Amino acid sequence: ESQLNPNYNFVNFVEGDSNRLARSAGMAVANKPGGTSFNPLLVYGGVGLGKTHLAHAIGVEIKDKYPDKTVLYISSEKFTQQFIDSVKSNTRNDFIHFYQMIDVLIIDDVQFLSGKTGTQDVFFHIFNHLHQNGKQVILTSDKAPVDMQDIEQRLLSRFKWGLSAELQAPDYETRISILQNKLYRDGVEMPEEIVEYIAKNIKSNVRELEGVIISMIAQASFNRKEFTIELAKQIVDKFVKNTKKELSVDYIQKVVSKYFDMDVATLQSKTRKRHIVQARQLAMYFAKRMTKSSLASIGSQIGKRDHATVLHACKTVDNLTETDKQFKKYVEDLTKKLTL
Ligand code: ADP
Ligand code: MG
Repeated sequence: ESQLNPNYNFVNFVEGDSNRLARSAGMAVANKPGGTSFNPLLVYGGVGLGKTHLAHAIGVEIKDKYPDKTVLYISSEKFTQQFIDSVKSNTRNDFIHFYQMIDVLIIDDVQFLSGKTGTQDVFFHIFNHLHQNGKQVILTSDKAPVDMQDIEQRLLSRFKWGLSAELQAPDYETRISILQNKLYRDGVEMPEEIVEYIAKNIKSNVRELEGVIISMIAQASFNRKEFTIELAKQIVDKFVKNTKKELSVDYIQKVVSKYFDMDVATLQSKTRKRHIVQARQLAMYFAKRMTKSSLASIGSQIGKRDHATVLHACKTVDNLTETDKQFKKYVEDLTKKLTL
């Protein structure tokens, strides 16, 4: 099972200035997996800009051209979990062996491997084996290798061996094409001025562009409404507000406190009670992950702590996520609450 999603293909990956390099590098790799200097191919860029889509598209295209090749798509999270399970059940060698047999390995969101030294170590060995045998590795990440934190140097240097291609936020023309493409695929017609309104107001995330269209279609059909600018404005406003909400440390503290059924003052307090400390550490961790605030600024906003405390919190959360099932569930639940 390759785990590829056939709907994420090259045909519906709209080309534009913002993704041309990454798209064509992906095409080149798909034509000659393992046979170009783009090995590994690392596609990086912000949330919702098409990394996962492009990674699948490369795999889908390879499967199409080379049906005998084994292609595997896996998220870094799942890869990590499989590795941890293999250690627990004493099947680490089987795990490594399985991955070393693959012709094209696609690992999504490698930033997730930050701080996970055991998983990085095993991936290093798998990577070397595949690379030496002319197998293709495709990676995605939310950052360029130079900006990655808590990834071992030797692994980072491997990431830089091939090509790092950035997916940028789509420019206006590309946003229009993406919207039109989505409408076309859904068999829906929408007045041009509305499409332009959406493209002008949603700028930095393709998932949101699609989200607006999906909401428009749903609203219009449930409520027998027309596609009007007013409707577009309502929906766009909702999306813009949500994005802003995610970006504040304040909002994150509120969501985390509410999840643990405590108030923000308790979360920020000096107590050493374990569940409160954990809630505070989670708030710091998400603030680091989901806002642009510095460690120092996060610390000062979450009960006047210093940057070292925040850094320690992030590491603790990473470690606990690897070892503690209940804690991992907290992280998953909160991720959903904060991003939906
Ligand atoms: P990321 O992995 O970078 O967060 P995704 O690959 O999940 O982003 O993309 C988010 C959504 O936007 C998906 O539904 C994807 O199909 C769509 N998308 C992204 N880029 C494009 C593009 N260039 N053309 C068409 N759809 C795109
Ligand atoms: Mg993704």
